[in-house]
Formats: sequence, structure tokens, C-alpha cells
Amino acid sequence: MTGSSDRPIYSAASTLPEDHPAYATHQAAIRSVRRVIENTAPYQNVQVASTGISQLLGLKPLILTGAGMSTDSGIPDYRGPEGSLRHSRPMTYQEFLHDEAARHRYWARSFVGWQHMNAASPHTGHSIIARWNTRGQIAGIVTQNVDGLHQQSQRVADQQATRGSESGPIIALHGSMNEIECLVCGSKENREDFGVRLRNANAGVADQWKLTEELVNPDGDARIPQEWVERFQMVQCLNCGSNKLKPTVVYFGEIVPKQRKEAIQALLDRSGALIVIGSSLAVMSGYRILLEADRARKPIGIINLGPTRGEEYATFRWRSGVKQALEWLDHEISV
Ligand SMILES: [Zn+2]
Repeated sequence: MTGSSDRPIYSAASTLPEDHPAYATHQAAIRSVRRVIENTAPYQNVQVASTGISQLLGLKPLILTGAGMSTDSGIPDYRGPEGSLRHSRPMTYQEFLHDEAARHRYWARSFVGWQHMNAASPHTGHSIIARWNTRGQIAGIVTQNVDGLHQQSQRVADQQATRGSESGPIIALHGSMNEIECLVCGSKENREDFGVRLRNANAGVADQWKLTEELVNPDGDARIPQEWVERFQMVQCLNCGSNKLKPTVVYFGEIVPKQRKEAIQALLDRSGALIVIGSSLAVMSGYRILLEADRARKPIGIINLGPTRGEEYATFRWRSGVKQALEWLDHEISV
């Protein structure tokens, strides 16, 4: 990731040595983003910020969420104090294509980590946003998360709606962990079906491979012993037999598909404001949405526990945990 590129970063499942150029670039970019954020984040009075953001909710805003949205669901943040970027290296798209050992290691780790991802469920904050969306109070949701929690709670909210749902789209900026694609023939497979095949291939050992939460990353990647990596059995593409398989997530070295970018732009055009929730916007593709909102002169609000890149563009900056902020806002706009 660099300041000018559009390359999100996922996964620690790499065998990249620390002197690999991609690793150095990655670390330098993280340091520089952290410096910029620390230098430009002005503090704002909590009451001013929270009241201001509740007013933005009257403008049919676009909601943009990041990893901080999912931490209350037990999925750790990349960039928090214990964030995985502090002890991991990026898995690149090139490695998925060309490095068999790295790929094997990735899938071994993902296989173990996925069991935790499946266990995570949406929290009150997800439900609140989903209800706002059902009632047409927001234009839609763009999420940087690949965990599917917004989509899950939206399905529930839409089912519970007494009148017809008016919900806007949920766009997963960096794709989803719910689908696997073959890099050779392009076939796709549902993550659950793929997971069943992996479990069958690893029957007998899978149940013993359990981890504590701290060892699991937001994309389902997990730190596991080398012995597990060696014993792990990978499965092949059902169509062509290749093992060059990758989740349909935008990895380091890959760009966000053009169609998705256009859908986000169209959604932003229909929005009266932008509210960023639980993201430091360290990744360029998310930050670009804030810059675009500013260019279109839409008011911007940010709710995040720590500093966020682009705070100087935000009218309202509320340093708060995500769940309690959303609960407060929901109460505030319903009285
Ligand atoms: Zn294939």
C-alpha cells in the first residue's frame, strides 16, 4: 500500500521475508499513515460531535464502516493496539498465483481461523444501522469489512420490517470471504461448501485445531503452529483441478473492481452526507470515498475510537466506541 495506490491489505499468511521489498513498502506506508493521522487529528468536544452527527442522520447519509465496527463482535481490528498489522506481513495477489508454499500456508491458517469467523455474529450496532437502512433513513452502507455481518443483520431487519423494506445497498468494498474463486478457470464456489470439502479432507485433526481469539485476524486468517501447516490437506478446484484458489477478497497487489467503484460513486451521489464508523481510513480505497464526499461538498461525520485519516475534512469528529455511539444516536433520533 502506498499513499497513491488503491491496494488494501489482507492476511498475514505469507512467507515473505522481512527484507522483501513489498514488506518494507508496506511497513513504511503504515508508519507514514500513522504519523499523518497523529499530526492532523484535532480534538472536538464530544457533545458538539455527537449532536452534529445525529443531525447528519437527517440528511440520508451514506454509512462507511471499517474494522472498528466488528470489534464488538469479537473480530479483532488490524490497526488497534493489538492489531495484526503489528506482527504480520501481507499476503499478496502474486503469491496466490505463483507461490505454492505461501498459498498452502494461507489455506491452512484460514481453515483454522474460519471457524472463528463463522462463530462471530452482528452486535446491536449492526442491527441499528440495518434498521435505519430498512426504514430508508440512510442511503446505504459501504463496508471495508469482509465478514458479512452487515449483510447478516440486514436480512434480519428486512424480515422484521412491518411495512415494505426501503433498504439501500450494502457494498463490500474489499469483497467477501463468503466465496472462493479459482485463479486458473475463474470458477466460484460458496465458502460453506468449500469449507465442508476442507473439513472432509482434514477429518480427524480439524477438531483438535482450536485457537484463542487473539490469534485470529479479521479476514479469518489465524496464527497456527508450523506442524498444523504441514499436516493440512488442501483441496482442488472442482472444475479444473487447480489448487490456485483465493477468496473473492481484494488482496494486496489487487485493485477494487471498476464496477464496484462506480456503484459506490453512484450511492455517494444519492447521499446527503457521509458518516464514517469504526475506520482509521488508513487504506486508500476507503479514504478516497471521504475525499470524494468532500469534493462534492457533502458534510462528513466520523465516529472512531482512535484518530482517523482525513479528520480535517470532517465537520464532526466523535472519538467513541462504535456500539455505544450508535445506541446513543438511535435513541437521540427516535425521541
Ligand atoms: Zn479452476
